[in-house]
Amino acid sequence: MTSIKKALVVGGGIGGLSAGIALQKAGVDTEVIELQPEFNVYGVGIIQPSNALRALDVLGLADRCMERGSPYGPVKMCTSTGFQVAQVGTPPMGRLPVHNGISRRILHQVLHDGAVANGVALRMGITVAALDNGPDWVNVTFTDGSTGRYDLVVGSDGVYSKIRLLVLGDYKPRYTGQSVWRYAFPRPAELDTGYIFLGRQSKVGLIPMTAETMYMFVVSAEGEDPKIPESELVPRLKALVAEYEAPMVRPFVNQITDPKGVIYRPLETLLLPAPWYKNRVLLIGDAVHATIPQLGQGAGLAIEDAVVLGELVQSADTVPTLLNEFMKRRYDRCKLVVDASNTLGEWEQLEWQGQLPEGANMGALMGKTLGALGAPI
Ligand SMILES: Cc1cc2nc3c(=O)[nH]c(=O)nc-3n(C[C@H](O)[C@H](O)[C@H](O)COP(=O)(O)OP(=O)(O)OC[C@H]3O[C@@H](n4cnc5c(N)ncnc54)[C@H](O)[C@@H]3O)c2cc1C
Repeated sequence: MTSIKKALVVGGGIGGLSAGIALQKAGVDTEVIELQPEFNVYGVGIIQPSNALRALDVLGLADRCMERGSPYGPVKMCTSTGFQVAQVGTPPMGRLPVHNGISRRILHQVLHDGAVANGVALRMGITVAALDNGPDWVNVTFTDGSTGRYDLVVGSDGVYSKIRLLVLGDYKPRYTGQSVWRYAFPRPAELDTGYIFLGRQSKVGLIPMTAETMYMFVVSAEGEDPKIPESELVPRLKALVAEYEAPMVRPFVNQITDPKGVIYRPLETLLLPAPWYKNRVLLIGDAVHATIPQLGQGAGLAIEDAVVLGELVQSADTVPTLLNEFMKRRYDRCKLVVDASNTLGEWEQLEWQGQLPEGANMGALMGKTLGALGAPI
């Protein structure tokens, strides 16, 4: 057991709330601070593969996610006309399904409630103004003028992390050339699992969120300048989806009507070189390994980071040993996902231009990478 008694987690997203729960469960008095004055999570869903559920199970939250979400099996990969060509997914793990689809808002509520129930102190609308990061403790000055001394600070403040800038330097995520469009719908009865339809210049996913709801994602290449004005979101998304003749996809075209319901986002990637810590500050989640969602793994990796941290607080003798072990257990696994996701994104774009290199086998890369994630963390 390390000497860590008091920790600060910066960022109340999926990774930060998970880290708060994992640390508190490990006996560490933990505060989570969140920049936003209140949570304002956007209203589409997220894919939770079995390895993410396995990590949530350690936090005591997998069952709650499945009750409030929608467990499903492997994703059916189909042509744009609806013909199934393959199926993919992480290996099933014990009683856990291959996937759970869940609304992001509900997931946040589950994590927030879990944090509160475990005794995590949550402070909203506040961040770090300055850090004095010594070998034995971190003195923190907050933006409201208050101060605190912590044995460990965990930066989980996302892809544009301020803690990363303060502690590790100036790293920027890279735009990959692709964007994702998402939209929530009532769930049709025939949506029995997750589906991905492969089009000529895009792909469409249909993902269950609850028994009554689902969301669609569309991945497209939006070129050098991916910004799209709100007035164009609905017509452009409709045009992308209209390419698909699959009977499961067609009915959605006319249901895309609300520009506020279109969650559009250019895709960025970032993998920081090891180590992801300095003295007593450790970075986790998208702050150090932001992956594009080709394998649906970003949030799962952030939750796994939290679980490994919680375990090491209890098993490592010293803080340097903990941090060193953390990197050993996390770096290669996160790199595997970030690299494979980037390759898949590049191959998709080449395929849409009719230039997929010979030997580029997306199904094989997905299967191999997702299969490897069945290994214990
Ligand atoms: C289009 C898209 C689809 C995706 N789909 C999936 C999927 O299906 N499955 C999956 O597993 N992953 C998916 N992901 C990835 C997933 O969303 C991220 O990996 C995950 O949200 C990372 O969590 P995080 O806590 O590290 O960062 P974030 O979710 O970014 O949370 C960071 C938090 O820190 C707060 N914050 C920021 N700055 C500060 C500061 N200075 N001080 C205090 N707080 C701060 C933010 O307000 C936020 O609450 C997807 C990502 C994208 C872009």
